[in-house]
Amino acid sequence: MDKIQNTAESLQHQHFDAHAKDIWKECLSIIKENVPFITYNTWFLPIKPFELENSTLKIYVPNTFFIEWIEEHYNTLINKTILQVLGPQGKLLYVIYEEKEPEQEKQVLINGNSPALVQLKPREFETFLNPRYIFENFIKGEGNQLARAAAFAIGENTGQTSFNPLFVYGGVGLGKTHLIHAIGNKILERNPEKRVIYISSDAFTVEFVEAIQSDQVNEFSSFYKSMDALIIDDIQFLVGKEKTQDLFFQIFNTLHQSGKQIILSSDKPPKDLKGLNERLISRFSWGLSADIQPPDFETRVAILKNKSEVYGINLSREIIDYIAQNITSNIRELEGCLIKLLANSSLNSKEINFDLVKKTVRDVSTNKQVNISVELITKVVCGYFNVEENKLREKNRHKEVVLARQVAMYLSKQLTKSSLKTIGLHFGGRDHSTVIHAQTTIEQLSALDPKLRETLETLKNKIEMSIT
Ligand code: ADP
Ligand code: MG
Repeated sequence: MDKIQNTAESLQHQHFDAHAKDIWKECLSIIKENVPFITYNTWFLPIKPFELENSTLKIYVPNTFFIEWIEEHYNTLINKTILQVLGPQGKLLYVIYEEKEPEQEKQVLINGNSPALVQLKPREFETFLNPRYIFENFIKGEGNQLARAAAFAIGENTGQTSFNPLFVYGGVGLGKTHLIHAIGNKILERNPEKRVIYISSDAFTVEFVEAIQSDQVNEFSSFYKSMDALIIDDIQFLVGKEKTQDLFFQIFNTLHQSGKQIILSSDKPPKDLKGLNERLISRFSWGLSADIQPPDFETRVAILKNKSEVYGINLSREIIDYIAQNITSNIRELEGCLIKLLANSSLNSKEINFDLVKKTVRDVSTNKQVNISVELITKVVCGYFNVEENKLREKNRHKEVVLARQVAMYLSKQLTKSSLKTIGLHFGGRDHSTVIHAQTTIEQLSALDPKLRETLETLKNKIEMSIT
């Protein structure tokens, strides 16, 4: 009896696994009818069905922020949709896929009723693609027309365009990273079995150094050579790193010869990458170089309209025009301004009036664009604690070394955009869980210790002052 039940159950399970896709598709078609287009693209499209167990549909979401946002804004719609598609027994379970803490399974309670599991996407390797960076929420404008069109063509017809490599360049905050992720996401959407990986050139270098130290250069190089699409961000950071450049050159050639796609981004065009090996520069111009220019007024207005809708803020035409006239340099600042407005208005339950907008715009535009690196943080922290820098990368367990290391990791997470993995690699190839541990330790210690809080403040100031 038991046995039969088990078989039936597992059969049912398998059957429903494939079924989850259809069910979610049906849900999406209802949701699409009921939310603004841009909201649909930003919050619902990145969600992927995972499995259907009995009447519970499990879906993959990128992070808890997604769940909170959806539950806050579209709880009723979601409930209705699930009811309609799955019947009265229908339930929705969020499964988070993130690179953080993949080995741990966590139960998260959202709104006290829907538990979500934290799990790693079932893939043989992490693609490091951000599911939020997709074409559907990348706004077209004069400044990004060519780059976007080329990127889209590659996503749709991988390996069949002459854009190999695609080299996207332009200033900070203009959408390079978003666009190159979008290519990767598109390729996988069309061909889930393709091997696609995103990595910053910084992380690539650190991994390579690690590979040398652990005598695994061959493994490292064959891993990247096995990709169908290799996406490397901020290639300008390879300048001056000759060994990494040499290895990248080999990887590039192997991939290119076998018709595999290479996608690169940089803050300047290939010819201006002084200090980069000439043979690399010449290869970069084999395909297509496309720049991204700062958005013009109309594009800025379009972006503000779309993003304010996504964040659920109501802004008048005058306010949008005012922001678009005053924040002109890049899209990250436009976004930053909206997020600040949102935070100010909901935290202090203030109305979004013109005064608040003016103040926020002033704050955002005086906030100088800073580029803080993990290296810089390490240097400043070591100087302050009087500890040698290499001690932080070694397995040194002396009290003051451990503290300096943890503080440096904590500040790296706070002040840079590096992932936990990248930060871990910077500190002698430590695991990302060590970085999380450092983060929580410093948070807990500083909550109890005003002196440590002061130290952290001093260090932040020192770091900020040593940029320029
Ligand atoms: P870069 O890599 O060039 O410094 P990013 O890709 O990180 O810039 O973009 C900064 C922010 O602006 C990101 O949040 C991104 O989603 C957003 N962004 C940039 N360009 C666009 C666009 N055309 N449409 C929508 N959002 C954009
Ligand atoms: Mg970028």
